[in-house]
Amino acid sequence: MWHDTGTGAWVIPAGLTVQPLGHLENAEGKRRIRNLLEVSGLIEHLVLLKPRVATEDEVLRLHTREYVDRIKSESANLGGDAGELTPFGPGSYEIALLAVGGCITAVDAVLDGKVDNVYALVRPPGHHAERDIGRGFCIFANVALAAMHARQVRGLTRVAVVDWDVHHGNGTEHAFYDDPSVLTISIHQDNNYPPASGAITDTGSGAGTGYNINVPLPPGSGVGAYIATFERVVVPALRAFEPELIFVASGLDASAMDPLASMMMTSDGYRKLTQAVLAAARELCGGRLVICHEGGYSPAYVPYCGLAIVEELAGVRTDLADPLLGLLEGFGGQELQPHQDAVIREAEKLVAGARPQPSRRR
Ligand SMILES: [Zn+2]
Repeated sequence: MWHDTGTGAWVIPAGLTVQPLGHLENAEGKRRIRNLLEVSGLIEHLVLLKPRVATEDEVLRLHTREYVDRIKSESANLGGDAGELTPFGPGSYEIALLAVGGCITAVDAVLDGKVDNVYALVRPPGHHAERDIGRGFCIFANVALAAMHARQVRGLTRVAVVDWDVHHGNGTEHAFYDDPSVLTISIHQDNNYPPASGAITDTGSGAGTGYNINVPLPPGSGVGAYIATFERVVVPALRAFEPELIFVASGLDASAMDPLASMMMTSDGYRKLTQAVLAAARELCGGRLVICHEGGYSPAYVPYCGLAIVEELAGVRTDLADPLLGLLEGFGGQELQPHQDAVIREAEKLVAGARPQPSRRR
């Protein structure tokens, strides 16, 4: 919560023409999820895991030495920018290592059978960070590094990452683009952020061809489009791939209340996506599911989405209701629209490509 993104106005650095307001990626949404878990009483049903700090070697599995050293030295002084739209303050290096370590802790806890599944409420987010540059508020690639831990340290043969953040999971795609052992699926608003990233035609390269699936939904997509994407693309692709562990990169910025995107998801929509991915994990990999927090910029609404997801993971429904759900469900166009259906129909063709090659099966 102490990671400091500065005083800029949302994503614009403060200056003589921009009055300071506060960065959109701040602690509030995350802190309020934690608080709602307490107020609802759900926290009493959860096992709280203490995250550890990731080691430098763990981060160097993906990121370059030069990049890691630069973040470390700027963080030891006044802070800086990790690359593109990623301001950070003093101490953010250590905090970013804790975010990576939190996701790694989650993997170990699930694989060791300490817990059934995990929601890793970490910050800063990670899915935009690439090998040698931080992008879109992300310093280190939390989920990609946790997937590398699962593969390289824990010896899993195949893991899958489902990214429901409204922005394209370019960093995760980038980390595994030529790797057939990690299936990456990103459902995002078409060409939002990063610009010109996340096309449906980007399916992987070399041996990794077929193991990257992008579903760029049109702006305005609601719960109907998301559920259809999961039923027709995400779950069938997971079934084809047969992962031994499933990650979710959980951005809650596809909600109808988010200032950084133009989708119409609700807390109940996220509940249904959680049910779908949880059912797939139970069917395919003993329920092993690690959900890592990413974006979400409506501090008022994000906590209700987070609560719905964690309720499903815990199998406990509290009686704390989402006070905005009725309003958002009544928005026009929540059901699947023909132009959204057309994108999903194209993405359905990619499912067969996620089947592992026989030589790669254990
Ligand atoms: Zn996002």
